[in-house]
Amino acid sequence: MSSGEGQRTALEPALELLKTVYDAWEELSQGWPLACGPGCVACCTDRVFLTGLEGALLLSGLEERLAARLESQAVSPGIRPRSTFNQRARLYQAGREPPPELEPAGAAGVCPLLGEDGLCPAYPWRPLACRVMVSRRACRSGGAAWQEPFWVELASALFMVVEHLAWGVGGVWARAGLLPEVMAAVRGREGQGLLPCEPLAGIPAPAEHQARLQECLGRLFARPVRGRPLGWWLDELRRRRARAG
Ligand code: SF4
Repeated sequence: MSSGEGQRTALEPALELLKTVYDAWEELSQGWPLACGPGCVACCTDRVFLTGLEGALLLSGLEERLAARLESQAVSPGIRPRSTFNQRARLYQAGREPPPELEPAGAAGVCPLLGEDGLCPAYPWRPLACRVMVSRRACRSGGAAWQEPFWVELASALFMVVEHLAWGVGGVWARAGLLPEVMAAVRGREGQGLLPCEPLAGIPAPAEHQARLQECLGRLFARPVRGRPLGWWLDELRRRRARAG
């Protein structure tokens, strides 16, 4: 089997694992006092960061004309993230600082996917970044969103798990960046400004959130996918990557 075929074979279970992480977020965040609702688009900006694996899922639910329009959008280099979640975790563990993010001039633009009706045309397939962008405070008419610190910790942990899944597949699916550039890459075009995904490097948490985070991650890792718990799959992806060299 060629490496391209091998990656495609690995993509299908990885998409199931990804959907399981998305479902876990829905379950774990149930009951949170959110101010968000339909037509509330303040967080639909041009800063949506995702992995190629998530891009593959998004593409599966997107009309061709929208996918083509999305990938043709120019991205200002000044808004590209400079490191991934697992890269940052690994650097912090080594006592090093990640590269500082650039300070984009001006306010964020609107997500190129957002419809004129104020709705997302790919809502069921949207990436994790769109799912975890929730707020306790109503911000649709202005003002800043506000999240409980624990929500941010849990979201960061899930970003790390999703990055690990993407890394496990390899190829263009193991690249991360902003929406138009990831979509160009998963559609077979040269993806500019993308970062390589890395495997989990441990999930850091401040002491006050450790017990709750462990409980949430325990529920996530125990979720069954194809007859095995999700945590088993995370190890299996490491074994597969090691075998592939
Ligand atoms: S992909 Fe959809 S949910 Fe995410 S920012 Fe764009 S319009 Fe909003």
